[in-house]
Amino acid sequence: MRMIDIIQKKRDGLALSKAETTWLITQYAIGEIPDYQMSAWAMAVYFQGMDKTEIADLTMAMVATGEQIDLSDIPGVKVDKHSTGGVGDKVTLILAPLVASFGVSVAKMSGRGLGHTGGTIDKLESIHGFQVERTQADFVQQVKDIGISVIGQSDNLVKADKLLYALRDVTATVDIIPLIASSIMSKKIAAGSDAILLDVTVGSGAFMKNMLDARLLAKTMVDLGNAVGRKTVAVITDMRQPLGATIGNRLEIAESLTVLQGGGRPELRKFIADLAQIMLGLAGIDKSIDAILENLSNGAALEKFKKMIEAQGGDFDELLTSPEHKTIFSKTVVSTQTGYVTSFDALTAGLLAMRAGAGRAVKSDVLDLDAGLKIFKKIGDYVKSDEPLFEILYNKADFDVEKESQVLLDAISISDEKVEIKEIVEIIK
Ligand code: URA
Repeated sequence: MRMIDIIQKKRDGLALSKAETTWLITQYAIGEIPDYQMSAWAMAVYFQGMDKTEIADLTMAMVATGEQIDLSDIPGVKVDKHSTGGVGDKVTLILAPLVASFGVSVAKMSGRGLGHTGGTIDKLESIHGFQVERTQADFVQQVKDIGISVIGQSDNLVKADKLLYALRDVTATVDIIPLIASSIMSKKIAAGSDAILLDVTVGSGAFMKNMLDARLLAKTMVDLGNAVGRKTVAVITDMRQPLGATIGNRLEIAESLTVLQGGGRPELRKFIADLAQIMLGLAGIDKSIDAILENLSNGAALEKFKKMIEAQGGDFDELLTSPEHKTIFSKTVVSTQTGYVTSFDALTAGLLAMRAGAGRAVKSDVLDLDAGLKIFKKIGDYVKSDEPLFEILYNKADFDVEKESQVLLDAISISDEKVEIKEIVEIIK
């Protein structure tokens, strides 16, 4: 086969055969196809798209370029969950132990944050001693022993995706739904679970900015997962405003602990219970929302969280005694108006938390795990003039807190009308 013929075929709008797709990915992964030809193919995909069969062929060819995690030693249905990214998204930290508290094993690999979006692995690293790197054998053994482990994604998973994603990043070919779907699903499939819940976020703080794209991405991934034998369901969730009441690594761990102790914002609890119901359903377990919420209040999910932290070397007692760490500086931002919060821009809040030290502008940035933002009022909440809206926590002496406070105030709107917001906008099966 010749790469030039494959590029030309895609450029002319024809579907590639399985043999062509497999050859293309395999050769690229071993360095036999140069980046300039791969970029031309990616750009042709941007203009011509891919059909369902091509997307499935591409995904499975990508899976075969790296290690595949074998979870078959763990009894029962293993259910994974993936979010396309958001601001203040601490869902995994609560959902994984909650699902595990019903006897469903969760063997999950998570990622790190970049830009305005946070990463579960960074958050877990804010727990003293917590190890995110485990051998595959230790990972599987822990899930067999206690039913849960969340670790960093192995570097050996889906080699082709690492190369292709880096290339797409510099050739304006990231925002192509078939390539996003195959990139995400190849990693999920290689990670070995039997069923997958996808959280496709939509809104300013998300990768997908509008419903049309979110729906298309969700449907593409669901079809793909089901086509290759993994039961897959997607939820489209609202990411116009940050999730929950905090943005920042240790802050989000502390908020997760509060939820696992039966507290936290009611809509966050309900949202996570809804997701847990779907994940349990994928494992063949039917539970009411009340029964699921009960495991958040009665300590059952908290116990799983504690066991996971301790099994991975983390200091749970330190977390319980001082869930939040003080920063050198902090500033409370108060409202200048009275009324209902009607909008609060997630992207602005996420970028501000990043500048305060909670996120990375570039991959090599070092995080300040204690920095971030506490959010006291969200869409639908009533606020009086002079009442606190946010608290910014930071350690950087050169952080311009006065300017940043104004940025936050500009990101929020307040009016006389109460707006309702639903976390789950749509479920795609
Ligand atoms: N996240 C991924 O893992 N891959 C993409 O292509 C886009 C977002």
